[in-house]
Parts: sequence; structure tokens; C-alpha cells
Amino acid sequence: MVERFKPIRFSRAGIRGLKASATIAINDRVREIWDAGRNVYHLAFGESRFPIHPKIAAALGANAHRRSYTSALGIPELRKVIAAHYQRRFELDIAPEQVVVGPGSKSLIFSALMALGEEVIIPQPSWVSYGPQAHILGKPVTFVPTRPETNYELELDVLESQIRESRQNWGNPEVFIVNSPKNPTGTVMRPEKVEALAGFAREHELMVLSDEIYALTVFSAVPHVSMSRFYPEGTVVFGGLSKSLPLGGWRVGTAIIPRDNGGKALTQAMSNIASNIWTCTPAPVQYAALVAYSDDPEIEEYIDICRRMHAIRTRFLYRTMKSLGVPCVEPAGAFYIYPSFERWREQLAARGVHNDNELAFHLIDRYEIATLPGSDFHAAQDFCLRISSSYIDAATDEKADMLLSAFREDPDPERFIRNQHPRLQKVAERFGEFVAELRREAGEPETVPSLAVV
Ligand code: GLU
Repeated sequence: MVERFKPIRFSRAGIRGLKASATIAINDRVREIWDAGRNVYHLAFGESRFPIHPKIAAALGANAHRRSYTSALGIPELRKVIAAHYQRRFELDIAPEQVVVGPGSKSLIFSALMALGEEVIIPQPSWVSYGPQAHILGKPVTFVPTRPETNYELELDVLESQIRESRQNWGNPEVFIVNSPKNPTGTVMRPEKVEALAGFAREHELMVLSDEIYALTVFSAVPHVSMSRFYPEGTVVFGGLSKSLPLGGWRVGTAIIPRDNGGKALTQAMSNIASNIWTCTPAPVQYAALVAYSDDPEIEEYIDICRRMHAIRTRFLYRTMKSLGVPCVEPAGAFYIYPSFERWREQLAARGVHNDNELAFHLIDRYEIATLPGSDFHAAQDFCLRISSSYIDAATDEKADMLLSAFREDPDPERFIRNQHPRLQKVAERFGEFVAELRREAGEPETVPSLAVV
């Protein structure tokens, strides 16, 4: 029970049962461990840590004098540039009026959720904050489980039955959150699936909030296709500068709203929310973002270099898991893998580890490896971990600079890992030790972690 303090008393609305964002909480915890001079391998946070591009850094400096409030929806120049960017990179026919700029896509998802619908549909697993945002807004959630066997893609029959069941219980799911490339699995939805889901959403009159913030990080043959291509009248597309470029702390988020009158009303609603809560996205950052979204060939090349570096690091972790016999779906974008340790449930129980949360603690305590449990991602299966490649060997700016120069000089994946990633290799070794122990206890043959990357 929370103590009562006078005169501070807590409101039940929104706060009851609300936990801190798991990603932000573990990131703070890891920093505390580092500040105390102890080691931990940070695989728990999804932040692109590569250096800032000098042109973008210069643009921020040059715009430091922009000290006035801006429109809640973003400066018109930026909305225009973002619309052109979406047209060119994603083949979406977007007008500047459809673009909303906000302080991070998180705030924009929240304001859209606040504006729209009674209840929310969330796939399992999904990013940590969708559920808590619905909770703050007092909106009931219908969860839809997905399975590793189908690459964690939504299955229409499961989706349909979950919605039906919710309606039978007086529920009214109207807003549907989808996310591809997907956090926490690193999977990318096939274009056919995007189209099928769009058809389903149209037929069931669901409003889709499509979180596409990882769109420019895809590294597999399956291309990213926006939900808005197939269902423009019922999709809000979210994006931002936190993943394709290393600008997470800048908090630049975007939403692309449908063009019709319904979309105009939604834009007005989101503007009203923004103007009463955060007013606007910081002005200097908006002006600097003009450069980031300008489709300047140098910046385009840099986005691509970041994507390739993430791919090598993420695929290395995936190959490590595969070589150890840990079930894990193949990542195709973002910087995450999502292995399952379920098959060693018994051996883990003998160590006092009974769920994924305890497993994450066990890995920090015994192996100095920080990850996040699947349960923080509304997981449908137990004993999964989300492992992020984005921080490791790039924790300091010097290391991040070194990584970039080394990659520019020699982009060979094997050598990039071998010569520039001592800590990532250590992580592979530690996972190797951990899994070897479990396998021994289970009477399974031994495995060694592979250092292969492709
Ligand atoms: N999206 C990132 C992650 O999943 C971190 C930022 C956040 O959760 O707000 O690790």
C-alpha cells in the first residue's frame, strides 16, 4: 500500500497500477551501476548510439536563437519537408497538412490514443508503453497473442476471435496499435500481411495507429510497407528521428494523419491536446530537423550506414543465440532479438528462476548482462527476453566515433565485430557459459557460440 502523505495525496485515475516505463527504468539502473564503477553489459535499451551527423549538429547550433514558441503542430516548413520525405521514402501521397510534429512519437501516440476510440487492441508482445498509455487514459485493452511459429505476425482469426470475445463482454475495441519493424522481436511484417491487416481493419472499422518508427532500419529482403498504403483513411503513421538517426534525446516525433475530414478533425483534436499540454516541440530542434528530413544525399548515406551497423551487431547476437540452440526468430530490422529460454524452464526453476522477470535479474546478478523480460512487453509467452544490440560497445561518444570511422574504413562484418566489439564478444561468451550450464543440467549436448555474423 502507498503511504498517505499530507497534503500530497494521489489520485487513483491513471496512477493506480501504473509502473515506470521498463525501458527508461532499466536504462537509469544501468547508468547507476556504471556510475558506481561496476560493470554491466547493457542490452536493455533501444537507442541508436552512433555519432550525430555534423550537418545536423551544425543546424542545431545555427538555430539556437529560435526561442519563440511554435505552432503546436510543428513549424510549417518542417511539416512540408516531412511530407516530401514520406512521399519519397515510403511512396505515400502526403500533404503537409497531414503531418503533425511532436516531442517524440511517444507523446503523439498518447495524444492520438487520448483523442480516439473507447478501447484499444494491442498485439502481444509489443513495446512497453502502449499498455501503460491506455491505462493512464482509462481505456480497456484487448490483447492479441502472436506466436514465434508465425514470426510473431498477427493472425487474422486470432485477432477476430479476441475482438469478438471482447465485444461479447461489453467491450468496444476501436483503436488498433500495430508496429513493424517490431519492438521487441525485430521482425518485419510482410507486405501481404500489411495489406491483409489493412483490409481487416477497414472491414471492422478499426482505427489503426501504425508505429513505424523503425521503418528505415530494415535489413532483410522483406521491405517495409506502410499500413497507410492500403488503408490511408484509417491509419495514423508514427515516426521520428530516434531510431534511423541517433537523435533519441532530441525528441522529434511525427504523425501522419488521414487526409479526409475525419483526419482534419483528428489533427485538430491532437493540436488541442498538444497546445494544452506541451505547447510545441522545442523550436531549435524543429529547425535542425529540417536538415535531418531534407533527404540530403549525405544524410541518406548516413542513415544507411547506421542501418548496416545495427544490422551487423543485431545479427551477431541472433547468430549467437542460434549457435547455442536458443530458440529465436530471425530479426529483419530495428536492433532487437527476442529469444526464448522456455525449454530450460526446469533447469531455471532449480536456480530459483520461475519467470522472465527473475531470469532478467538472474542474468544481471550472475553474468552482468542487462536485458528486459518479455513480460514488460505484454508478452504472451513466458521466459522470453528482449535483447538490444544498440548500446553495447557504443556507450561513450568516443567509442561511438571509433565505431563509425572503423566501419567507414572497413565495412566487413566479421572484422567489424572482431576488431571493434570486445564487449559484444564478451556477451556472446557469457551467454555461452549460461546456456552451456543449462544444457549440461538438462543432459543436452554442448554447443559453442559462433562468431559468425551473416
Ligand atoms: N523504444 C526504446 C526501447 O524500446 C526506448 C525508448 C522508450 O521506450 O521510450 O528500448
